[in-house]
Amino acid sequence: LVEISNVHKSFGEVEVLRGIDLTVEKGEIVTIIGRSGSGKSTLLRCINGLEQINGGEIKVAGELVHSRSTDLRKLREHVGIVFQQFNLFPHMTVERNITLAPVLTGKIAQGDAARELARKVLAQVGLEEKIDAYPGQLSGGQQQRVAIARCLAMSPYLMLFDEVTSALDPELVGEVLKVMEDLATQGMTMILVTHEMNFARNVASKLVFMHAGMVHEEGRPADLFANPATPELANFISSVR
Ligand code: ATP
Ligand code: MG
Repeated sequence: LVEISNVHKSFGEVEVLRGIDLTVEKGEIVTIIGRSGSGKSTLLRCINGLEQINGGEIKVAGELVHSRSTDLRKLREHVGIVFQQFNLFPHMTVERNITLAPVLTGKIAQGDAARELARKVLAQVGLEEKIDAYPGQLSGGQQQRVAIARCLAMSPYLMLFDEVTSALDPELVGEVLKVMEDLATQGMTMILVTHEMNFARNVASKLVFMHAGMVHEEGRPADLFANPATPELANFISSVR
């Protein structure tokens, strides 16, 4: 579903991605770990075209993300991204937050159909009863679950998660991880950057360790955790334990 080959990305003089190769099959759960500044967020942003690249190519569902002929708006309807900050509109209800994009893009009509869609995706994150609430009336974990529901409302075939639990109080992390685990079980293809090593170990089908703008190691999570091949990964694992 995702084919990344020899991707380079610089900000000014600084080369942040230095030849990334990575493939993600349909239904795979890929977790990216690595030190701060290793390029994890930049890679996710390149995958849905939020960043330009300086070399190599990224294909999503057979389409070149960085080709001039690619309709990025269309692509992003199918490639959802959820960030650490939920970015919900505070003056809109949960329903409106969720249905705004599908209504604007003509995916669904305003009114009953939109409300039905909001209900459906809220059920997926366990928040049906909050459909008429405003973001300010929700906990951080609930807001993040609404942000995930908003993403689901576009029926994505790929979801990108960038440290979606990092801004949450510790007691709220579990409910968001649970939602992602449920999505994984339902077969959603996901690429996520996380510091939650238990999630990386137990839910991910593939673990990717980024270091200095490259994929330093990748493989089955259990193998990498048990037998890191490089001192960089060994050090990283012991530092997050
Ligand atoms: P963290 O774990 O802290 O989130 P990360 O692995 O996600 O780190 P990135 O955010 O991808 O790292 O950043 C990689 C490098 O690129 C960093 O050195 C960062 O300062 C730089 N960088 C990222 N975005 C920009 C930008 N818009 N302009 C200039 N430099 C940037
Ligand atoms: Mg980051």
